[in-house]
Amino acid sequence: MSKEKSLIEEKKEQLFFQKKLVWKESNNDSIQTFAENYKKVLDLGKTERIFAQQMKDILLSHGFEELNSQVPQKGKKYFRVVNEKGIFAFVPGKQSISNGINFIATHIDSPRLDVKPNPLFEDSGIAFLDTHYYGGIKTYQWMNIALALHGVITKTNGEVVEIHMGEKEEDPIFMISDLLPHLSKNYKTKPVGEVFNNENLDVIVGSVPYQFNTDEKDAIKLFVLDYLHEAYGITEQDFFSAELEFVPACNARDVGFDRGLMAGYGHDDRCCSYPAIKALIDTKTPEKAAVALLFDKEEIGSVGTTGAMTHLMEVFIEDIMKQEDGPVSLHKVLSLSSCLSGDVGAGLDPHYKEAFEAKNAAELHKGVILTKYTGSGGKGGANDAHSEFLGAVRSVFENHKIAYQVAELGKVDIGGGGTVAGYFGNRGIQTVDVGISVLSMHSPQEIIAKDDLYELYRAYKGFFEEYK
Ligand code: MN
Ligand code: MN
Repeated sequence: MSKEKSLIEEKKEQLFFQKKLVWKESNNDSIQTFAENYKKVLDLGKTERIFAQQMKDILLSHGFEELNSQVPQKGKKYFRVVNEKGIFAFVPGKQSISNGINFIATHIDSPRLDVKPNPLFEDSGIAFLDTHYYGGIKTYQWMNIALALHGVITKTNGEVVEIHMGEKEEDPIFMISDLLPHLSKNYKTKPVGEVFNNENLDVIVGSVPYQFNTDEKDAIKLFVLDYLHEAYGITEQDFFSAELEFVPACNARDVGFDRGLMAGYGHDDRCCSYPAIKALIDTKTPEKAAVALLFDKEEIGSVGTTGAMTHLMEVFIEDIMKQEDGPVSLHKVLSLSSCLSGDVGAGLDPHYKEAFEAKNAAELHKGVILTKYTGSGGKGGANDAHSEFLGAVRSVFENHKIAYQVAELGKVDIGGGGTVAGYFGNRGIQTVDVGISVLSMHSPQEIIAKDDLYELYRAYKGFFEEYK
């Protein structure tokens, strides 16, 4: 009887898949150090512009050169910043580029509140900047929290003025007010979508009238504009050519007594973007030409010159290919290429189990997520990675002892989502999503696990090092 049971146990061990806890598998000091470095990058880089600039600085400090119009030299590492909001970086491999490229593609834009082109108004003694939300948000999460303002204003003389306000201890912050519970009785039985109106995401930016003159119409608005004129030399119409973003003012923090988790704004998708850049830098001799692509605009459909559909990616690859001796066809190279689409997945939240299908849900601390397909309504819009490619990527992960799990975004037909994966598949590039789990995704403070983050870095590095 006992012999039989041990046979069952033996067989189970041999045949059943067991998710592994990353902490047990990995070097814990490396996990903490990596997380601390990531936190600094996250706190400084709350917009795509700032994040791209930070990555540029890191690449420059690791011997990468900016690729402009010069002909690239063999053996050198290059990068290109795209419209200040995206960044592409390249490291030559052991093999010629003509054999294809190993890509990791991520995005560095995150949900936020963008200032409208005609934003400033005054009502009932308060001045507001009106916003238009960017990406998928739950409206109420952005109310009553400290907001910081980042962005640029381009004047007609070509001067670009930067605004950064709300991050430093001594800075003012900005806020959207909410109704007190005492007067919210009528709201409590209404659907959330009716109570919270995205048109009302107006951010408080002032309350004092110019020259303390309360009789003058729009005196508070005038105070704000006068301040902006003094500080930045702008007038109201300069908002027409501005890109200003309200983002959460708080910084990333450890979560829990054990400090296993990290809350922060913009984990989606900087928790994939930073490991991608780090993996590219730390892979000394990649097997194939290695390219990390950090895009913008994923949260609104990957369109435009900085989104993953942009042909500026092809321009960069063509420029890189100029270091090859013989003629090489761009589309041929792409068809021989492979891509890990780096984006986050939904972590199983015990309070919302009904949204997940447990056996195909990702869990925190269980390593990177390999996602064959995303999409909605029967895989609609999904890249749906091929079996052969999945097998090959698994083989790399297993060689590098990467803790990984395979998951879907949620229950069938409960919603859905997408990543940049499809745009790489469309280019003839074998592609699969590889990211990590996030709780409270798209909220002002998303949660990830530190060990998953480090494991993702190891996974990306393994891919660059070994994938043939
Ligand atoms: Mn994402
Ligand atoms: Mn997202």
